[in-house]
Amino acid sequence: MDDALSALGRYGEGARLLAGGQDLLFRIKKYIVQPQCVINLKTIPGLDTIRSKPEESLRVGALTTLSAIARSAELQRNYAVLAQAAGVVASPQIRNMGTLGGNICQDVWCWYLQDGFSCWKSGGKFCDLAAGDSRYYGSIMGGHLCLSNHPSDVAVALAALDGRVHIVAPKGARAVAITDFLTGHNWVGGRLQSHTLGLDEIVTEIEVPFRPTRSTYVKFALRKSWDFAIASVAVSAVIEDGIWSDLRIVLGGVATSPCRSREAEDLLRHEKISEALAAAAAEAALENARPLKMNSYKVDLSKTLIRRALLSLAGVR
Ligand SMILES: Cc1cc2nc3c(=O)[nH]c(=O)nc-3n(C[C@H](O)[C@H](O)[C@H](O)COP(=O)(O)OP(=O)(O)OC[C@H]3O[C@@H](n4cnc5c(N)ncnc54)[C@H](O)[C@@H]3O)c2cc1C
Repeated sequence: MDDALSALGRYGEGARLLAGGQDLLFRIKKYIVQPQCVINLKTIPGLDTIRSKPEESLRVGALTTLSAIARSAELQRNYAVLAQAAGVVASPQIRNMGTLGGNICQDVWCWYLQDGFSCWKSGGKFCDLAAGDSRYYGSIMGGHLCLSNHPSDVAVALAALDGRVHIVAPKGARAVAITDFLTGHNWVGGRLQSHTLGLDEIVTEIEVPFRPTRSTYVKFALRKSWDFAIASVAVSAVIEDGIWSDLRIVLGGVATSPCRSREAEDLLRHEKISEALAAAAAEAALENARPLKMNSYKVDLSKTLIRRALLSLAGVR
């Protein structure tokens, strides 16, 4: 880790960290990024473990693969939404290589960026999604500068579990809530990032506090075998005698960062779920949606996913 931090310090903006490489190598091959130095994190020991303190917290190392997270019996039991989200990322091959740290730090996959258009992320001063083809990658919840939705399934689940990102830098360590880590836009040096990681920082692990909740992740993608979410929803809640409390409802695939809906949560808190209440919560969650020219279908799609997630979690459907 010391070597990695010192290389980061030496190369600054010219350096890129490599974990599973599913995101970074694609971008290097496409000349989207052209690093002077690639720092391989995979050989750093101790960053690929899942540690659980019963009824206290869970710590998952940044190099833990998505497959390991999806397979973990402990996660399936107590942090189901995280195991489920990791299990529907891309394809088995990508999940075997892709890591937790890489998944939450990945950049947007907007096709304008991928295909070499000038945009905020590639040094330009424009976002083509605003007036162009926003069908798959465009936010429906607004955004600042880049309007591409954040692609990580796992980050949406972590937001529903109050996950915290642990980070090291030469100046020391810090921890930040996943919702403050993924703000959607953050200039670092000359780079517009989705996250708030500094140029000299490395994610080491994610911590999730234990809450006696039930949780679930529901995703819609065009190709079920391997594809990004067109829309998704993560829900966690304590459900006792049918009454909901301590709940989180977070939307994915529709905003520049995981999008928590406190309006929908307020409707359900201390209530028993019903079809009508689930529909009302879905309406509330999308009340402030501002779709772009070609993606208004995501509003109805998201409402459907929310209804499904709530009713299935309650065992109604
Ligand atoms: C065909 C395809 C389909 C996909 N579908 C999905 C999908 O459905 N859902 C989804 O969520 N993702 C999807 N992805 C994205 C893929 O899951 C991520 O690219 C993968 O999880 C990234 O992990 P990685 O370890 O390979 O990251 P890398 O490619 O190694 O790194 C990704 C980024 O994170 C940075 N990084 C990596 N580790 C750290 C760290 N510890 N600290 C700081 N920065 C770090 C790297 O510098 C780089 O910028 C898809 C990708 C492909 C190619």
